[in-house]
Amino acid sequence: MTNNFSTDKNLTKTANASTDGIVFNIQHYCIHDGPGIRTGVFLKGCPLRCLWCANPESQCTHPQVFWEARKCTHCGACTSICPQHALSLTQDAVQINLGACTGCGSCTKVCPTKARTMAGKRMTVDEVMKEVLEDSLFYGSDGGMTVSGGEPTMQPAFTLALLKAARAANITTAIETCGYGSWASFEALAPYCNTFLYDVKLVNPEKHLHYTKKENTRILSNLRGIAEHFPNCDIWIRTPIIPGANDSTDDILALRDLASSIPSCSQVHLLPYHNLGEGKRAQLGDPNAFFAVVPSAEHMEQLRDLLRSGNFEVR
Ligand code: SF4
Ligand code: SF4
Repeated sequence: MTNNFSTDKNLTKTANASTDGIVFNIQHYCIHDGPGIRTGVFLKGCPLRCLWCANPESQCTHPQVFWEARKCTHCGACTSICPQHALSLTQDAVQINLGACTGCGSCTKVCPTKARTMAGKRMTVDEVMKEVLEDSLFYGSDGGMTVSGGEPTMQPAFTLALLKAARAANITTAIETCGYGSWASFEALAPYCNTFLYDVKLVNPEKHLHYTKKENTRILSNLRGIAEHFPNCDIWIRTPIIPGANDSTDDILALRDLASSIPSCSQVHLLPYHNLGEGKRAQLGDPNAFFAVVPSAEHMEQLRDLLRSGNFEVR
């Protein structure tokens, strides 16, 4: 098998049907991940650390263990089997030492109640495509496969091989990206991608760094690079609306100006924050809690109105 974290230089050479990668979910019949009905292939690994992340299990590149407190009977089977001694039973929890856990999965196999489960598994392109092809009857003329994450450019060879395999099967392709990959990765992927779902969390550079722990210079230059060099790729800019973080009038007007400057940006989507990620972060043993309020429908309408003067569709 080919290493899924190949360098950009040998990307095109290494991407083939036996390339493998770490997948944390394959979702069927998706209607919000690109045009039409789609199969979403969610890869592990993301370079950003957004405080509001809804899929914290996607952030690190290796498989991880989930623990659901409500299913745990405190039987202790997992603590005894762990070869790294990473688990300890307390009165009301199973504590995990994240630094010691290797993600081997032994504890999930002995858990009688399925309180412990794995997030992420290694799959080949062939294995993923088998699932994708099972959905192909439902795609119609618009639908297809969306590679999402996490961040697909964290596994560039695997993503490229998936796109090529989909194209070979006459399936249209989309990539959902945070934009924080190398330009070489985007340059290799774009010829095989019909639609980019391109996340722009914030245009303001200081706020972007504060809330995602990365600068947005590379994100914005990759966006402009795709528009300039691959004008046939449709771009949908997507922004999660996090009250107090990126929902000011200035933030939304900056987003409008950015989208207006990208000729191939046909749509801008405002995605209201939801707090599902807060529970998942707790299940992963992440002690950093983050709370935001879910924006009201009226507030979302106001923000949408601010965008309406742009030359793109707003959703
Ligand atoms: S995944 Fe492996 S190393 Fe991690 S807690 Fe479970 S048994 Fe221990
Ligand atoms: S094996 Fe499962 S039920 Fe038993 S203590 Fe571990 S997580 Fe809880």
